[in-house]
This record gives sequence, C-alpha cells and structure tokens, in this order.
Amino acid sequence: MPAYELVMGLETHVRVKSETKMFCSCRNATELADDANEHTCPFCMGFPGALPRLSEAVVDLGVRAGHAMKCAINPESIFDRKSYFYPDLPAGYQITQLFTPIAVDGTIDAFVGDKLKTFRIERMHLETDAGKLVHAGSKSLIDYNRAGSPLMEIVTKPDFRTREEVLAYLEELQKLLRFAGASDADMEKGQLRCDVNISIRKPGEDVLNNRVELKNLNSFSAIGRAIEHEYRRQVEIVESGGTVGQETRGWDDEKGTSSPQRSKEDAMDYRYFPEPDLPPLVLSTEYIEVRKLDDRPIDRRIRYLSEYRLLPDDARILSRDRETSDYYDELVRLSGDAKKSCSYLTTVLFALMDASESSVTLATLRFVPEELARVIAMVTANELSSTNSKAVVETLFTEGGKADEIVDRLGLRQNNDTSALEAVVDRVIAENAEQVAEYRAGNERVFGFLVGQCMKASAGQGNPKIFNELLKAKL
Ligand SMILES: [Zn+2]
Repeated sequence: MPAYELVMGLETHVRVKSETKMFCSCRNATELADDANEHTCPFCMGFPGALPRLSEAVVDLGVRAGHAMKCAINPESIFDRKSYFYPDLPAGYQITQLFTPIAVDGTIDAFVGDKLKTFRIERMHLETDAGKLVHAGSKSLIDYNRAGSPLMEIVTKPDFRTREEVLAYLEELQKLLRFAGASDADMEKGQLRCDVNISIRKPGEDVLNNRVELKNLNSFSAIGRAIEHEYRRQVEIVESGGTVGQETRGWDDEKGTSSPQRSKEDAMDYRYFPEPDLPPLVLSTEYIEVRKLDDRPIDRRIRYLSEYRLLPDDARILSRDRETSDYYDELVRLSGDAKKSCSYLTTVLFALMDASESSVTLATLRFVPEELARVIAMVTANELSSTNSKAVVETLFTEGGKADEIVDRLGLRQNNDTSALEAVVDRVIAENAEQVAEYRAGNERVFGFLVGQCMKASAGQGNPKIFNELLKAKL
C-alpha cells in the first residue's frame, strides 16, 4: 500500500471568558452546571424587537486573543447574520463575522516532540453560540443558557500533517488563550470545541483533495483516534478506485467510527448579510496597540531551554500556565539560581502540593517566594544540607513562617566553622582507635563510619564535606 500524506486544517471554537453574553447582559454560562434557561432574556431568546448591545469585554478579550496568535487586528470588522433554522437557535440566525473578521493572518508556534513548528492562522472571528438540545427519552428539551454566549472561531491553514501536530497545536492554543486571559479553553466543559478538516494525497503532490470535516471531537484523545480512523477510511476508498466525497462526518468515540452528518450547505444557503442592528466594530490604533501580549508561554519555554538550560520536560512544566511561570521567574530572580529554583519547584514543592489534601495553589501558599529563595541560598552556602532542606520546605508548606527560624528551630543549620569541626574530628579519631587502625591498614569502608561518627558528634550540624576533608587530612 503506497503511503499517503495527511493534510489537515482546524476550526476551533473557544468560549470567550467574559462576564456576560455577547450582546445582552445575561451571565455568560462558561460552565453548564446552572439550571436550564436561567440565563436568558428577550434578546438571547430571539424575541422580535429585542436589540443587541455588544459587550466591550468580548471585544477586549478578542483583541488580546488575536494578538496572542500574532494576528493582524482589523481596525474595522463587521458582524453578519447567518440565517438557518434549528430549535437551539431561537432568533433563526447567528451573529458572526464572515467577510471581515476581527483578526487575520496569525501564527502559533508549538513543540512537536522536540521540534518547534509554526502553524498559520487564517482568521479569527467573534460569533454567538447556540443553545443546547437535551434529549430525554422520546422528547427533546432545549437549554438556552448558552444561546448568545461569545465564541471565537479560530481557523488555521491546512498546515497539519500528523495527529501529533494537531494535538501539539491545540495544547499550545489552550495555554496561549489562558495566558492571554481570553478563555479557560477547558475541553471537558465545552469551552473548546474542535473540527478537523482532513484530506489525503500522495507525497509530493500539492493539490488539496476533497476534504472531510470531522465533528463531535470532545477530547484530545478522541481527536487522535478520529484522525487515525479517517485517514484509514480515505486510504481505503482511494485504494479501491473511489473518490472521497466532500462531507461532514460525526465521530462516535465509543464505537470508534464516524458517520455522515447533514451535508454542508453552500455558504449561499445561509443568506449572509451585514447585521442591520449593529454598526461596524471600529477600533482605534491605540486600543489595538495597548492590548498587545508581551510574551507567550512558548517564549518562556524557549527561554528556559536556551538561557537556563533546563531539561525539556521541566521547561514544559514550568511554562504550562502563567501562575507557574511567573512564580518560577520570581524565584529565579530572588535566588539567582535557575537550576535549583527549577528542582525545588518541580521535585519538592509540586510534590507537596500534589500530596496535599486541601487544594493548594501557588497563590495560596503559606509562605512568600522569598522564603523558598532563602532555602536555596542556605543550601548554596552550605548552611543547610540538601537533604534537610526538604524538611524545611515541608514545614514552610504546612505551617508557613520564616526559613531561617525553621532551620534553627529544627537544629538543621550546618556548621562550617572548620576549627570547631576539627575539634570534633580529633575527638572521633581519639575515641575510635580500632576503626582508625583498620582504615590505615587499607580498609576504606571504615571511612564512612568515621564521617558518620563526626556527624553524630556534631548533632547532625557539621558540614559532611568539611568532615570528609578534615578526616582525610588527619588520617
Ligand atoms: Zn440574554
């Protein structure tokens, strides 16, 4: 079987994280836990005569998201009516932006494995969501809480060749939108929905064949499985001499198959026209400029790799969200040690947070980052052993307080006073004549025992490295 190349483009719908819906003051139901039809009003229920009023927060977050994706922001964009009939659409039309979207021509960089790839964004526009049909036995119920909620639709160029690329892009998009504060983009809560356009071609060809639009992809893992399945389905059709039809297919993740959905109508069928109840959305240059995003999670990840020389996994974890990344940057600034800051966060503090029964976040820790930086400083100065430092962080975590006070209270401060330690070494040598003789006779294993005796004699506070050196010199 000859190999075929996958060609994919993505259309992603993301719920904008605004307080209210897009054109009315109803609460934006970002989660679907509320009672049905609680957040509705004459406008989002489609009553005749109710007029839209554009939410400024939606525009603000839309512009921020556009910048995050390195798009050009259109100083003037226009809302259009897309008319169709469906019970979840009470007005009989959706308000969207077909001809002049708010943002165009962007890019998103993402690591696919350890390779940095750039995916092109064709456009991003703002539009209203529909309600939700709930099927109950032989009847269907409608919940309009979601009707009129703001969405961003993000359309990419057909730049994806593997499912790993698709998943890497979606993860980066999710991080980016959270970073920009534009959306929580939680797939489980329906805040991020993705359709994948898939076609295949022989390697080396640059034609775009008939594409199939896959819908109902409700999780990252479902997306992976659906792509795999659709690739095989198209290859089989082509191999048996057929042609892949242009259609929309719904993915059934439980069965692991897809089936055709109502055929995609021509754009003409929607009778698009400029929304008569809304003027064009005009944004000043200043409005657009001040919403630029100064850095992105991917920039921080690259900085952690190239400047701090962190391991790829650590760089990924520390740049996963703004809170983690800001905390890490602050800790590096305070401690001056990027590597130690990384290991105290990823291996000590995160482990404590994971094991904790109360849900502690970096924002609700009982101690300020200065105290963790102080622990790092003490370890660097040999005032605290690396082993004991974990107990100090644990105490900071459970009780709060000051690192120095905890070190003294627990008697963990390491003694680096060579003359004081020398006295300890002399005493240990005098009291363990038998072992000293064995060591001098060539039994090197006794050395560890003697260091242990020194540690014991100093109540665990002597610096083991200095004990080592002193013992070596004296024996
Ligand atoms: Zn409303």
